[in-house]
Amino acid sequence: MKATFDDIKARESRHVLQTYRRQPVAFVRGSGARLYDTEGREYLDFISGIGVTSLGHAHPGLTAAIADQAATLLHTSNLYYHPFQAEAAARLTQLSGLSRTFFCNSGTEAVEACLKFARRYWYTQGATERTEFVALTGSFAGRTLGSLSVTHDEHYRAPFAPLLPGVTFVDPGSPAALVAAVTERTAAIIAEPIQGEGGIRPLTPECAAAINDACARTGALYIADEVQTGLGRTGIPFYFQALDLRPDLISVGKALGGGVPIGAALVSERVSQMISAGDHGSTYGGNLLGTRAAAFFLAQLMEHGLIEHVKAMGLHLERRLRTLALKYPAITEVRGAGLMRGIQLGSDAMPIVDAAREGGLLVNRTDEKVVRLLPPLTIEATEIDGALEILDAVFAKVSQEVQV
Ligand SMILES: *Cc1c(COP(=O)(O)O)cnc(C)c1O
Repeated sequence: MKATFDDIKARESRHVLQTYRRQPVAFVRGSGARLYDTEGREYLDFISGIGVTSLGHAHPGLTAAIADQAATLLHTSNLYYHPFQAEAAARLTQLSGLSRTFFCNSGTEAVEACLKFARRYWYTQGATERTEFVALTGSFAGRTLGSLSVTHDEHYRAPFAPLLPGVTFVDPGSPAALVAAVTERTAAIIAEPIQGEGGIRPLTPECAAAINDACARTGALYIADEVQTGLGRTGIPFYFQALDLRPDLISVGKALGGGVPIGAALVSERVSQMISAGDHGSTYGGNLLGTRAAAFFLAQLMEHGLIEHVKAMGLHLERRLRTLALKYPAITEVRGAGLMRGIQLGSDAMPIVDAAREGGLLVNRTDEKVVRLLPPLTIEATEIDGALEILDAVFAKVSQEVQV
């Protein structure tokens, strides 16, 4: 007998630690940009598991690669070699210009690795006082104690204090404050080129220039947290490229495995030289299943025109969102790049998210008043049009209710 939504919800509420506020729907199947719930209802998926299912659901090529790997060899650990780490790493170098890759299993772990490698870079050179980090207000870098230490949101931080000492947060709107905060004790500056959880807020060119200046003046490293923005999401390989930033370390995750958990820290040559065997590690990191999936995804991105597709679909989505914003005063701004977009509202975004889901469209709320759109990179124009029709109906209904 198939479990109903009510069964699933009741069992979870008894047995699963209640750290999430879930929406009232359970999915059992997906295909491309579509998801199907326990009742067989179809939804357009414009959040892709928070930017993860980059090739859409049940992509035939990715499915075949995973199935073949599962039937061949899943995991051997980092005690031994296998072919897929080098294959995925070579592609990441080609895409980023950074020379080496450390594989882990999530975005948080990728950030954690970057923080450790930044400290190790200075320690190896005897600069043991260079342990501090500068991060931005509104940043999100993950939930482990290290990555949480460079995450700004006080709600996430307060219950787990004390966190890493020596972290300074500066307002990205104040480049002068950033320059002043970076000193000869700073190991690295960490910043997302577009703040994702913080409300889809791209860094300004002035802020990017301040990061470059501060690094040039003090020698501090720059860590680009591209877990959400990286790997084609914005219509270019990495968003640091659009801002002319020069990272020494890049964290990636989310899209990399197309749904198979994997993250990576990309490391510049000068930082790589300061890292020794035993400095960092992971039992699962770079396992055959994850790196095979990543190699498949990266091949799609780099050799099958996916980045160009994202760029074209991103422009289409932007045009449609701008038209929507002109029609509804409830929308105060639309932001983002490529297929990473935010709709800024003047009030809580949750009623819009709920009404969209009831209308068959999945989006999510971030930073309270922002509706976030992260469709699969394979999204088609007709699907964007379908999603915008649903959003139009949702905003029409909400606007009417406000007037009454
Ligand atoms: C999602 C995200 C993370 C954390 O990734 P997890 O896979 O949830 O550990 C870190 N940084 C940024 C910018 C993110 O968007």
